[in-house]
Amino acid sequence: MELVDIGANLTHESFRADFDAVLARARGHGVGRIVVTGASAGGSRAALELARAHPGFLYATAGVHPHHAHEVDDATISLLRELATQPDVRAIGETGLDYYRNYSPHAAQVSAFERQLAIAVDTGKPLFLHQRDAHADFIGCIDNVRDRISRAVVHCFTGEREELVDYLDRGFYIGITGWICDERRGLELRSLVRDIPAGRLMLETDAPYLLPRTLRPAPAHRRNEPAFLTHVLAAVAQASGRPAREIAEETTRTARAFFGI
Ligand SMILES: [Zn+2]
Repeated sequence: MELVDIGANLTHESFRADFDAVLARARGHGVGRIVVTGASAGGSRAALELARAHPGFLYATAGVHPHHAHEVDDATISLLRELATQPDVRAIGETGLDYYRNYSPHAAQVSAFERQLAIAVDTGKPLFLHQRDAHADFIGCIDNVRDRISRAVVHCFTGEREELVDYLDRGFYIGITGWICDERRGLELRSLVRDIPAGRLMLETDAPYLLPRTLRPAPAHRRNEPAFLTHVLAAVAQASGRPAREIAEETTRTARAFFGI
């Protein structure tokens, strides 16, 4: 069994001390490929460096998370455009809209999102998207470019049925994190995951965030890591009533084709 973690924030400082051990544990748990999320200008550059240092195992995205949208200026966009030309950069993002935390004003988020969508249009690279509490504006932005982008995954999907339908209707892919392992918050997601067609579903940890709550014993630390992707797989398999092996095969095939890895 081989898994692909399509979203791990491995440039996060919490991985600095034991990075090689984290990668070794991932491999030990069948995670054969990891797409390292770029969520800021510096983070995207660092993600590419990691990918270059681990060819065939780590890959990168290049983008600025909506939380950091207020930092995006012309120099940021130039950097992202340059990074986007690099072969190890397999997607544009993380980009999108987050009106839940609102760390950046809405206008700044929309502007940064539109500028990154333009990079995806110009390069043909797929999109790695984030949306929280901003569905209408998010769909509005993406519909402007929809017929000019290659592929898009809405990562860490935690929304409602109507949102899922809107994404699937548009041909988007869906990333599922350890949110589904949460016995309280993950209930709706557990019922929705059955309606995601095979070939549109991918798995991710979003490490170091979203530590699966199914870890036993619950660790003293809160850091998530790619090795725990097996917990996401198990929860998806249980929610869909299908063997984990089948879900693993399908999601890995889908992720490899989506990112070209
Ligand atoms: Zn996100």
